[in-house]
Amino acid sequence: MAHIIPEDGTELPLMEEFYTIQGEGYNSGKAAYFIRLGGCDVGCHWCDVKESWDAELHALTAADLIVQSALKYPSKNVVVTGGEPLIYNLDYLTGELHRHGIKTFIETSGAYPLSGHWDWICLSPKKFKAPMPDVTAFAHELKVIVFNKSDFAWAEEHAQRVSPQCKLFLQPEWSKAKEMMPLIVDYVMNNPQWEVSLQTHKFMNIP
Ligand code: SF4
Repeated sequence: MAHIIPEDGTELPLMEEFYTIQGEGYNSGKAAYFIRLGGCDVGCHWCDVKESWDAELHALTAADLIVQSALKYPSKNVVVTGGEPLIYNLDYLTGELHRHGIKTFIETSGAYPLSGHWDWICLSPKKFKAPMPDVTAFAHELKVIVFNKSDFAWAEEHAQRVSPQCKLFLQPEWSKAKEMMPLIVDYVMNNPQWEVSLQTHKFMNIP
């Protein structure tokens, strides 16, 4: 039987949750509890979590239970990721995390309307489904995955749409890292408003 996901976000399709270190972007190096929600229709061909795409494969889980699990760990940072977490209404989950003193970070493509109360919004736009303007306006961090040379111009297009305070990161797509890294290094040295982001968790052999 198909999931009936409550619109108030009190239950969410949970793919996995784990305590680790945020490997990418502005919060790289910080211990955090990761909540990975199932469901994504953005369709990046290089996606490394394709098993997240079908929400039906992931058990509907009470948001209260997810919060209780997060509270067991020493870090008070939670990263909500996916899949595409903004498919769901995240007001309840993030409200409860805040009520328990936990900081809320999200990793999103921005393809769905913004919900939730966030301490940090990392927008990683994808060519396959454009980000919504409300997510772009509130992003604290723009993280563009560089898969080929044309992605630098595309990154600049998005940089025009975020707020002036938004941090700008370029991150090589993992399978293209060898090829793209020298271009990224060169680009950041010439355009220092951008910074390099690496998937450091892959070097640390952690999830
Ligand atoms: Fe995968 Fe994220 Fe792209 Fe969805 S948005 S297909 S989860 S990389």
